Amino acid sequence: MDSRTVGILGGGQLGRMIVEAANRLNVKTVILDAPGSPAKQINSVSQHINGSFSNPEDIEKIAAKCDVLTVEIEHVDVPTLKKMQKKHPHLKIYPSPETIELIQDKFLQKQHLIKNEIAVTESLSVDGASVEALTEIGEKLGYPFMLKSKTLAYDGRGNFVIKNKDMIPESLDFLKERPLYAEKWAPFKKELAVMIVRSIDGRVFSYPTVETIHKDNICYLCYAPARVPDSVQLKAKLLAENAIKGFPGCGIFGVEMFYLEDGNLLINEIAPRPHNSGHYTIDACVTSQFEAHVRAVLDLPMPKNFCSLSTFETNAIMLNILGDEKEKNKELEICQRALETPGSSVYLYGKESRPKRKMGHVNVIASSMEECERRLSYIIGEAKKPVQ
Ligand code: ATP
Ligand code: MG
Ligand code: MG
Repeated sequence: MDSRTVGILGGGQLGRMIVEAANRLNVKTVILDAPGSPAKQINSVSQHINGSFSNPEDIEKIAAKCDVLTVEIEHVDVPTLKKMQKKHPHLKIYPSPETIELIQDKFLQKQHLIKNEIAVTESLSVDGASVEALTEIGEKLGYPFMLKSKTLAYDGRGNFVIKNKDMIPESLDFLKERPLYAEKWAPFKKELAVMIVRSIDGRVFSYPTVETIHKDNICYLCYAPARVPDSVQLKAKLLAENAIKGFPGCGIFGVEMFYLEDGNLLINEIAPRPHNSGHYTIDACVTSQFEAHVRAVLDLPMPKNFCSLSTFETNAIMLNILGDEKEKNKELEICQRALETPGSSVYLYGKESRPKRKMGHVNVIASSMEECERRLSYIIGEAKKPVQ
């Protein structure tokens, strides 16, 4: 479809699924990450770069080998990307380094959204983290509140819930030496997410609003579409679209939000890349989030109604397969049951099993959510009888 080579910073599962989508379109990919990383395992044609997406020299090496450079993770070295943009005038970098810079610092991201009049959770910067400073913040935000690392956060690993004043020293101990900010507690009914594709000319296309369920801060299930009234789905879609209109460049974005008890929606955070809450699109939509990303960064056509959920009333549940906490590879038993279950597909990422590590996911598709749940119940081992 395109003779240009797409370089990907990061070769984890998201990179792997971008490569899969690119392969189907005959689009060449080259990856920067550790040897044998998940994305490299499924592309033996290219000479990949061994190294790290946070190391300037390694980024220079991949920039010299591709026409379009993209990311599967936002924690990349932005100054080097900006330098590469100047050094290689023909190199396209999507999402744009400016967008990655705004998003990779979660506090900066919030300020940018507020500037664009997008509803977000109230946040305060924590400068000079001390018990006194956090006590003052606790008085302003009330308890509980969330202490968060501004940078390098994932799977809740940069977060600490401060339930009362006595927990402040412990939170500082936990997050010491990281740049911090505090966030008001969001009393949410549900967590929602919307995947948005932004094309080179700045148009935005949205996938349906979905519902994510987290366990220990890690996404566990994703229901598509979200089990909320149509009006809420629409409101979430518009909020996500408006938020992404404010970030230059193109590609796929994941927009996480809170659906509050009082009915309001607030953005939690944005990912400038494919997102866990969009994995269901591989089976539920004609064009997956990964293919949409490849199309967007290469400026390939994007038909308006490219996602089937709204038109075919498909229902989907995505289940993350996390490394078993007691026995290595025991999580494969879940995959085994998924293989026995109609309407279910298994995706494994080629990683070594470690407790709570994202090892793969299962998509369950059916004509009703009840049927998806029935199938899921067998897959997770709750129901003992296989689904016919
Ligand atoms: P990831 O990037 O993997 O989604 P992260 O480390 O960036 O995670 P967040 O998305 O900030 O972390 O938070 C993880 C989870 O913690 C949220 O999905 C939500 O369940 C809960 N959470 C975060 N912020 C708040 C808040 N202000 N109030 C209530 N719950 C929150
Ligand atoms: Mg995050
Ligand atoms: Mg998050």
